[in-house]
Amino acid sequence: MQRCFIALGSNQADPVAQVSKAFAELRALPQSRLLACSSLYRSAPLGPQDQPAFINAVAMLDTTLQPEALLDALQDIEQRSGRVRKAERWGPRILDLDLLLYADRIIDTPRLQVPHYHMHARSFVLYPLAELAADLTMPDGTPLQRLLDACPSTGLQRLTGTAAQG
Ligand code: ATP
Ligand code: MG
Ligand code: MG
Repeated sequence: MQRCFIALGSNQADPVAQVSKAFAELRALPQSRLLACSSLYRSAPLGPQDQPAFINAVAMLDTTLQPEALLDALQDIEQRSGRVRKAERWGPRILDLDLLLYADRIIDTPRLQVPHYHMHARSFVLYPLAELAADLTMPDGTPLQRLLDACPSTGLQRLTGTAAQG
């Protein structure tokens, strides 16, 4: 089994329900075991500001799926949520599932960059990740805590009392 972390995000079609449903889908993935889900967080959108706030979370998963097969499975879940890929990057979406970390692997192919190329700068990724694995070290040896210290949580709101376990 390889330990993986997946970022979830939604700002369309009842985002809290979308993320909760996505947790349930991750729980049902073959060759995998969903170990933990973070709280849900509300964050301001990246890029275009004329779109609703996002709901974000992180999931911790053990899997024997290879990285590309896991990405296929994540994209399949995105598609079944009704996500339509648009030309505009960082626009509104029903569901985004990004593979943040796959064990301590560094992957750089046209389809897949792991660790996720921008996770170090995203508070809505780092804070929920730290909830699940505060003492995590990145594949290059950087402690997660050092990334958190450099990434203020301004604009990030942790929600309580939500059905994060899906
Ligand atoms: P961002 O990558 O900045 O978060 P995004 O998640 O909205 O933006 P998508 O449209 O979901 O971008 O994905 C664009 C492409 O990114 C996908 O087709 C996928 O092949 C590629 N990709 C590369 N690395 C990853 C990764 N670690 N997790 C998910 N997709 C990835
Ligand atoms: Mg993304
Ligand atoms: Mg994505």
